[in-house]
Amino acid sequence: AIPLVVAISTSYSAKNGILVRNRLALETMKYVDTVVFDKTGTLTEGKFGVSEVVAVGISEKELLRLTAGVEERSEHVIARAIVEEAREKGVSFPEVKNFRAVPGKGVVAEAEGKEVAVGTSLLMEELKAEKETKILNRVKEFESYGKTVVLVAINRKLTGAIALSDKIRRESYEAVSELKRLGKRVVMITGDSEEVASYVARELGIDEFFARVLPHQKAQKVKELQSKGRKVAMVGDGINDAPALAQADVGIAIGSGTDVAIESAGIILVKDDPRDVVRVVRLSSITVRKMF
Ligand code: ADP
Ligand code: MG
Repeated sequence: AIPLVVAISTSYSAKNGILVRNRLALETMKYVDTVVFDKTGTLTEGKFGVSEVVAVGISEKELLRLTAGVEERSEHVIARAIVEEAREKGVSFPEVKNFRAVPGKGVVAEAEGKEVAVGTSLLMEELKAEKETKILNRVKEFESYGKTVVLVAINRKLTGAIALSDKIRRESYEAVSELKRLGKRVVMITGDSEEVASYVARELGIDEFFARVLPHQKAQKVKELQSKGRKVAMVGDGINDAPALAQADVGIAIGSGTDVAIESAGIILVKDDPRDVVRVVRLSSITVRKMF
């Protein structure tokens, strides 16, 4: 039988947009000392808009056209933003062959007989793409403002970069400061670059973060924290986050996230409000106190 206090607190929480799928998760939250947040889509809105296009040797429009052709095959939020930008600019998309996605790194395909690779510096290294200092300098500049940047290599030569802006959720500031006030250690984890991670962490007052974490490494990071004796809650939204949510002592999914994330979580925040993590902590301590 479900203890009455738990039943009451879970129906209270449901009314407030906190769905408890696993009541053990709610009870465990009281003992959590570390809250790990995914960055994109969790602390930030995860809605990207293209803000800059840089190209060397070809026009910006041509770079956008080839890139968008490849990204049309991808489901990633970054891909969708690039495709939307290209549509707005009225470019015609090239035909694309041999598409492949490299998880956490980007996408590669053939467009009009050229290999077009779009993604992180790790992807560029993997492909041994020739560097272009002019582009890399601009990339550093964009990233220092917190912009997410994807690199574009054509035939294994760095040819351009696309900077995208995402917004930090307004509610994230309060969520982080309240959790810290409650004595929790707040950690951020992301597949994005060191520069962008450090910008967002600094903005939010997060003192510990892991950047350029590949999807399969997110769960590993959670495990590492646990092996240091920490009790970990993980908050995330993406398919990428599902194993980490499952690994954590408490997995919390942002409600508008992917189904896989939701299914791996013990608690779901229906309102996409990171401050609800603080409410989960409070709710948990009430529940546990009344039970014993
Ligand atoms: P996060 O952990 O921040 O949610 P992901 O693991 O989904 O991010 O992606 C990590 C990085 O890989 C992105 O910041 C981006 O640079 C790159 N990436 C992934 N998919 C794509 C894509 N379709 N096009 C371009 N870049 C991509
Ligand atoms: Mg995410």
